[in-house]
Amino acid sequence: MRIVVALGGNALLQRGQPLTAEVQRRNIRTAVAALAPVAGDHQVILTHGNGPQIGLLALEQAAYTGDAGREGTGEPPLYPFDVLGAETEGMIGYLIEQELRTVIGDSPPVATILTMIDVDPLDPAFGNPTKFIGPGYGEEDAMRIGQSTGWTFRSDSGMWRRVVASPKPLAVREIRPIEWLLDKGALVICAGGGGIPVTSPSGSRTISGVDAVIDKDLASGLLARELNADLFVMVTDVPGVYLDYGKPGARLLATTTPGELQKHRSHFPPGSMGPKVEAACEFVERTGREAVIGALGEIDLILEGRAGTKIRADPDVSGRAGPEGV
Ligand code: ADP
Ligand code: MG
Repeated sequence: MRIVVALGGNALLQRGQPLTAEVQRRNIRTAVAALAPVAGDHQVILTHGNGPQIGLLALEQAAYTGDAGREGTGEPPLYPFDVLGAETEGMIGYLIEQELRTVIGDSPPVATILTMIDVDPLDPAFGNPTKFIGPGYGEEDAMRIGQSTGWTFRSDSGMWRRVVASPKPLAVREIRPIEWLLDKGALVICAGGGGIPVTSPSGSRTISGVDAVIDKDLASGLLARELNADLFVMVTDVPGVYLDYGKPGARLLATTTPGELQKHRSHFPPGSMGPKVEAACEFVERTGREAVIGALGEIDLILEGRAGTKIRADPDVSGRAGPEGV
C-alpha cells in the first residue's frame, strides 16, 4: 500500500519540553521505532509538523542584536516564515533520516525533499491567524512579548502560544521528484511543516515565498490526494478523535464519516483537531479512500484497522460507498 503518514509536531517536541536538539532526537527515536516496521511493509511518504521548531527560529532571530532597534518597529522580519520553514524541513528531515537509517539500514533508502506548496496570497487566513508555533508561555509573559513584538498569542491547552496565518495549501510543486523517488523504492520525507508556502503571479515563472505556516495536516492530505495514496494516516498524541474531548463524558469515535464529523465540528478546535478532521474529510470525500487519526505508538494497530478513528466515505443516496479515485 502507498501510505502518507503525517507525524504530529508534538510527537517531535511535546508541549512543555525544552526545545533542544537532544530532546528532539530522543522523541524522533521513539517515533522511528514505531514507524520502522511500517516502512518494511509499505510504500511510505512521511510528513511532519514544525510548530515548536519554526517558533523557536522566529524567537532566535528576534533576539538578534546585530540589527538593533528592529523589535516592535513593524520592520519585516530578517527571515520570513517561508525561509524558516525551509530550515525546519532540513533540520527535522535530517534528524528523522539519521534515526531511521540507524534502525532500518539502507533498505528502503530514505530521502528528504524540500517541498514548496502554492498558497493564495489573498487567502482569508491572513486576517485570522490560527497556527500555533513556538513554546508555551504563561499569560503575563505572552502579553509582554506580544506588546514588544506585535505577535499574536492564543491559549493552547492551558498555555499561551504565538499564532500565525495558515493559508490553505493548493498544489505541491515537487510532486514529480517525489513520485520518481517512490518509483525507485525510496521512503520519502516531504512537505515537512506543511511545506514552504510560495506563490507565482499568474503566467510568471517567478516563485515568491509567502510569510505564513501551512498546516501540516492539510498539506499532507493534499499530498496524499496528489500521490493517489491508498491510505492517509495522521499520528498524534491522542488515540483518535473524541466528542467532548477533555470533558468527563468524552467519547472516542472508532469509525465515522465526513457527514457525521461535519455535524460535530464544534468539537474540533482550529489549530489542533480541526485541521486533522478537515484534512481527513477532504481526502475521503475526494478519493473514496480511508483516512485514520490515531496515536503514534499504535501505528501498527492502526494499519490493522484495530486502533485510531477511521474516517470512511458516507454512503451515497443509493447506499453504495462513495467515489473511487479522484
Ligand atoms: P499534532 O502536533 O499531532 O498536530 P495537535 O496539538 O495539533 O497535535 O493536535 C492534537 C491535539 O488535539 C491533542 O493533543 C488534543 O489535545 C487536541 N484535541 C482537541 N480537540 C480534540 C478532540 N475532539 N479529540 C481529540 N483531540 C483533541
Ligand atoms: Mg497540529
